[in-house]
Amino acid sequence: MDLEAIYKEANALLEGHFLLASGNHSSRYLQSAKVLEYPKKAALLTDELTRMIKDAGIEADTVCAPALGGVLAGYELARSLDVRSIFVEKKDGAMELRRGFEITPGERVIICEDIITTGGSALKAAKAIEALGGKIVAFASLANRGFCKRVGGSNDIKPECALPKDIPFFAIDDFIFEMYAPQECPMCKEGKTEAIKPGSKG
Ligand code: ZN
Repeated sequence: MDLEAIYKEANALLEGHFLLASGNHSSRYLQSAKVLEYPKKAALLTDELTRMIKDAGIEADTVCAPALGGVLAGYELARSLDVRSIFVEKKDGAMELRRGFEITPGERVIICEDIITTGGSALKAAKAIEALGGKIVAFASLANRGFCKRVGGSNDIKPECALPKDIPFFAIDDFIFEMYAPQECPMCKEGKTEAIKPGSKG
């Protein structure tokens, strides 16, 4: 599966001069909401993730996503796997299960995000599920940004990766972009453009 081509076709892989949440600059930006705009395309992606998860012999009862970014990917993955779909929401810097969602002790849960960057939100979701007695059997995302290492990936894990190393992490492919501190950014040095913040508001 050519994930980059699918993202480009959906205008979900932006090229320009971007200010990332981390404060760094980059010439590329992933807007995964765009690739999930068409349910049939989203289904193709999560069917591929399901194949990878099943090939690895992982069995799950439930997919849990951190809201809001992971909800669509998590729901589609649950459909592909034919399991339950739930999500956790931010509260006071952590994640919590609301809306009557419940976890049975020992329930096997996959935490699903659209993109895993450092995996911070995914880890918080995992902690919320574990606190209720659930067992995290895998992490999954459509794409890996290169801080963590997916099953079958070839990059090195960076110190920023928050995902536990003893639980497998599945992603369809890696999107490893150069990032620059503002004072070292070649596009800033060129002086033609200013870095813009695409994010969820753009
Ligand atoms: Zn710049």
